[in-house]
Amino acid sequence: MFSEKLNKLKSEILTKYRPQFDRLDAISEANTLKVLDAMRACKVSDAHFNTTTGYAYDDIGRGKLEELYANVFGAERALVRTQFVSGTHALATVLYGILRPGDELVSLTGKPYDTMQTVIGYDNPCPGSLKEFGVLYNELSMKDGRVDMEHIKDVITPKTKMVEIQRSRGYSMRAPLSIDDIRAITAEVHRVKPDCVCFVDNCYGEFVETLEPTQAGADIMAGSLIKNPGGGLAPTGGYIAGKSDLVELASYRLTAPGMGDELGASLSNNRLLFQGFFLAPHVTAQAIKGAIFAAALFDALGYKTLPLPTDARGDIIQAIELGSAEKLIAFCGGIQKYSPVDSFAAPEPWDMPGYADKIIMAAGTFVQGASIEFSADGPLRAPYNVYLQGGLTFEHAILGILGAAQAIEDLGEKNK
Ligand SMILES: *Cc1c(COP(=O)(O)O)cnc(C)c1O
Repeated sequence: MFSEKLNKLKSEILTKYRPQFDRLDAISEANTLKVLDAMRACKVSDAHFNTTTGYAYDDIGRGKLEELYANVFGAERALVRTQFVSGTHALATVLYGILRPGDELVSLTGKPYDTMQTVIGYDNPCPGSLKEFGVLYNELSMKDGRVDMEHIKDVITPKTKMVEIQRSRGYSMRAPLSIDDIRAITAEVHRVKPDCVCFVDNCYGEFVETLEPTQAGADIMAGSLIKNPGGGLAPTGGYIAGKSDLVELASYRLTAPGMGDELGASLSNNRLLFQGFFLAPHVTAQAIKGAIFAAALFDALGYKTLPLPTDARGDIIQAIELGSAEKLIAFCGGIQKYSPVDSFAAPEPWDMPGYADKIIMAAGTFVQGASIEFSADGPLRAPYNVYLQGGLTFEHAILGILGAAQAIEDLGEKNK
């Protein structure tokens, strides 16, 4: 049950932000057309949904799925595998596949996402990191929440083999990058050093706009199948898409040098991966509509939100500055209560592998940890931002967000 105040705000928001919601429906339609056109061009057929086992040489479903991803993303080649355990694994596979001792990696979007810090090994050392293999690293801090375009030329040296560009905000309050931003950044990098590899961490960015980074100057990108492109149906996995030679290098790291992308059983997952990719434009739009609703509601309640309800979107994440640990925990409890799975549980902060601070997560998802499903999380550190993402249906997102607001309201009027 939600208070009268919250129910009234809900109705007002659905009317007031109608143009924003309609815009998302239009993007979803355009991206659905893009996927349908690619499915026709690739001649996807139900023979591609068959089960394969063992080495799975000539797994036609796996090959077709990779052709489809490449087509939709405007890339020469793709690897789409359930053998990737997560987005971090796919991203790390690109780094280890392409970088060699003495090469330098430069992050152009400041400190990378928490789990990438152990992979790189400079901020958060870990055995087996790139640092241990003699890969050099530098980063360009963001300036006023944006990529510092004027100083890109100063951080790219003859040793800089690759730049990493993180599209989504991760656990920070900066704005995500738009496709136009990515086009400008990659153009500047290639102007300074034409053979520098522009690598985009595309997690949470797929289908948010009608073009992807590989259609805007990126040489290679990677992401997670339990985020946008899996459409909520992919049981696990990750993808890499980009220039043929670069994807090939990554494939030798995924399997083994010499084997590359020619092995890897898709088992019985293919139908789910095709069907999820078909649904992905719609599901991504549902999730963003939920994010806009959350921004609108918490903005009306007096909280700082990023993005604002009317801002353009570059990822599916909504950050809300809650201001106290108590509210962060209450918020996550409210989301959990309106989840389809484990709705009886109360989330607690824990030391999650790969993350520096304690994290609290609310996720009652069908696929464990799937953040395209409605979920919320945040590190237990000031100013106690909660990051909200996903939602297979807009209706569910609305109910969960009202639940979170109600849980905070129930803490008492000492709040705010
Ligand atoms: C989710 C995410 C990753 C990868 O995280 P996994 O949990 O390993 O899938 C990397 N970068 C960003 C920006 C992300 O949002």
